[in-house]
Amino acid sequence: MIDLLPSQAERWQKVEALARDHFRRAGLGEIRTPLLEYTELFARGIGEATDVVGKEMYSFFDRGDRSCTLRPEGTASVVRSVIQNGLLSQGSQRLWYMGPMFRYERPQAGRQRQFHQIGVEFFGLSSEMSDAELISIAWDFLNDLGLRELTLEINSLGTKEDRKKYRQNLVSWLEDFTELLDEESLKQMNQNPLRILDSKKPHIQKLLNGAPKLGDFLSNESQERFLNIQNILNTLEIPFTINQKLVRGLDYYCHTAFEITSKQLGAQATVCGGGRYDGLVEELGGPKTPSIGWAIGLERLLILLNEDSFEKQFTEVYMVNKGDKAQVEALRLARDLRISNFVVEIDPSGSAFSKQFKRANRSNASWAVIIGDQELIQKEIRLKRLKGEIVGDNEYVVKNSDLNQIIKILRS
Ligand code: ATP
Ligand code: MG
Repeated sequence: MIDLLPSQAERWQKVEALARDHFRRAGLGEIRTPLLEYTELFARGIGEATDVVGKEMYSFFDRGDRSCTLRPEGTASVVRSVIQNGLLSQGSQRLWYMGPMFRYERPQAGRQRQFHQIGVEFFGLSSEMSDAELISIAWDFLNDLGLRELTLEINSLGTKEDRKKYRQNLVSWLEDFTELLDEESLKQMNQNPLRILDSKKPHIQKLLNGAPKLGDFLSNESQERFLNIQNILNTLEIPFTINQKLVRGLDYYCHTAFEITSKQLGAQATVCGGGRYDGLVEELGGPKTPSIGWAIGLERLLILLNEDSFEKQFTEVYMVNKGDKAQVEALRLARDLRISNFVVEIDPSGSAFSKQFKRANRSNASWAVIIGDQELIQKEIRLKRLKGEIVGDNEYVVKNSDLNQIIKILRS
């Protein structure tokens, strides 16, 4: 788990602000759920057989002997919340969330134990258009951030029945190759055979090239739905490739699955993952509700962003001050200027003016406001232009009570 220091925080704020703005323009509502949930929610909502529930959760018993877990992802909590708060009886819901998630994983570049996700979930929408809209929100946000070399991969998982047929076929095909499978794949073959398609091991991927393809087992309706989505994406000029090995292991996932990856990321290449999960709301005790969502990993996004694309927020006004009264006057004026939207820094040192001016220049401020006990006797302060076009008189003496005049000069 890592600390976020001021030098990095500004970049985070910009990414978060841009995301909020995209969600606002798309008419989504924000939802904030607690970081802690009962363990059972994730066991049921993500599935016991997944890596996340099986080996990555931070779980503990609280003082009331209830098993609690720090949320490893956002979807299960959002589903619990929309059910519990009765939002699903108020028509379709288009929601977003943002915040820390916790998984006990081996930390490495782009993989932390506390990491952050931005996510979007749609409830009560089943049309192909809603799938395309949801994908377009992620795509447009990532592109607006200036990310390039992004690849959108999509697949269709069809219905539960489609996958049942495929699963049987895949397993009987794999049975001829059990001696080539590793321990993990053999376990998956019994518990959740579709997960094998997701294997990161090259020799298994090579073997799978000859395996039956999920697409060949989709019903006509599922195929048509998938084609419709492709057509909409083409119309929207969102480029994509079809990846038949893109799967989600659980029964409540259906139809659309997608990922956005970047070649710049190496092993941890997935920036955004999402899909349709029409069965989950019901699984967690709610009414039958078509649902689809995605999540973006913020740390991976930030790795991708070129440092240069961030303009640092600099101090605009530096308050040079010396003397007990001057110090308090500097703070008084700084507050007034901050209310008027200036970025103001107050020199804390009480050292010689020459030293304070050096710091003022280093701060990159455009103006120094100079306050000394002497000037205060005359109720005056000095404003000195430090940057920009310095023509003729770059110093002004102003009454300290005349805020309008001070602001007019600072804006000139
Ligand atoms: P991976 O295959 O990389 O482990 P995942 O399938 O576990 O990803 P999801 O559960 O789909 O990931 O989460 C969505 C996104 O959250 C991922 O694409 C990734 O960007 C990010 N993410 C997941 N786990 C971590 C982590 N431990 N640290 C940082 N980011 C993460
Ligand atoms: Mg993972």
